[in-house]
Amino acid sequence: MSVTADSVLRFKLKRTLEMLADKEGRGTELISLYVPPGRRIHEVLANLREEYGTASNIKSRTTRKNVQDAIDRTSQRLKLFKEPPTNGLVIFCGAIPRNGAGTERMETFVLEPPEPINIYFYRCDARFHLEPLLAMVKERNAYGVIVIDTSDAVVAVVRGQRMEILQKFSSGVAGKHRAGGQSARRFERIREQSLNDYYHRVGAHAYELLSEIEGLKGLIVGGPGPTKFDFIEGDHLNYMLKEKILATIDTSYVGEQGVEEIVSKSGEILRGVRYMEEKKIVQKFLYEIGHETGLGVYGETQVRKYLNAGIIDTLIVSEKLNTIHVFVKCKNCGNVDDSLIPQSGFVKFEQDLMSAACKKCNSVSLAVDDRKDLVDELIEIADKQNANVAIISTETDEGVMLRDSFGGIAAILRYRAS
Ligand code: ZN
Repeated sequence: MSVTADSVLRFKLKRTLEMLADKEGRGTELISLYVPPGRRIHEVLANLREEYGTASNIKSRTTRKNVQDAIDRTSQRLKLFKEPPTNGLVIFCGAIPRNGAGTERMETFVLEPPEPINIYFYRCDARFHLEPLLAMVKERNAYGVIVIDTSDAVVAVVRGQRMEILQKFSSGVAGKHRAGGQSARRFERIREQSLNDYYHRVGAHAYELLSEIEGLKGLIVGGPGPTKFDFIEGDHLNYMLKEKILATIDTSYVGEQGVEEIVSKSGEILRGVRYMEEKKIVQKFLYEIGHETGLGVYGETQVRKYLNAGIIDTLIVSEKLNTIHVFVKCKNCGNVDDSLIPQSGFVKFEQDLMSAACKKCNSVSLAVDDRKDLVDELIEIADKQNANVAIISTETDEGVMLRDSFGGIAAILRYRAS
């Protein structure tokens, strides 16, 4: 489940960034602050005080006030930390118009990135600066690559679009044409033996080199012609590495160029691998439903119930689920009601509230008290209950079925609920 665990992290950050990307200030008044690990908080605070001073030169009274308020709030949040967390800290803060001019509300977002930030920066702009975090959402896992034919081999590691050649080998084995005077059988035997030694050498070094790579997610073996299959099928690769083989790829070249070919195709290869995993998970769920084993459940109510009971093995949610869980409070009697609505309907929902009456006391004083992204909420409960979480795209038929026929929320139980 490690690939899916990683996809959950990326997915969560992706969602947050999409939400932040939608936010726009009235003027140049939204603050983005990136604090790398190791930076001293009091230095950052001093820097913010300077920015506060600079902001007093802003001509527009509203903008000036909004910027200075945002700097104040950012400082307050920063003071909650003695030092930046392991991967650093990112704060976004600013007045966001809700519904036209004059409806701004100050919003603050504090993020601990999944990977270390290596820059310090402060920006004040009409939008939040998300680029360094967006880079983290992309595929960053490490994959091993072996490109091999009968004369050359190379072992490399690939992260995103970046590759690093770890070692090159040449077989020293002559071509298929023997020198005059040699017996054909003897020549063949010697050639086989040397190829075998060469495969073994590549296999042993590849294992040594790749087992040191942290977070190695898989291995891709490529090369022109059938040598790669001889290499894999022979007993040359440690079984731990063999188990990690994700794909075999035909390349036109060996050496570095061969690795480059694989890198250019790797996005596609890895997507293919992810879709296979997604298909498997949804198919397992469909099996449980189809065979009425009692282990497959779906729909928000059912899934939440079993999630809270702690008997869900795998929570399965569609990436395309855009539902929010809204809590509405009556300012008069304090009654709280909640409902699930599509993200896109939130503005209208909030407007309608202004003229709606409380179910309990009938007074017209309802307001949104809290809102949660439904997926985030379910993932959070799943985390607490140690359930696996699978985020499913709609790139496969199974994914589309999950979204359209099961409302995008399903689960496989650990055991049958009584
Ligand atoms: Zn009420």
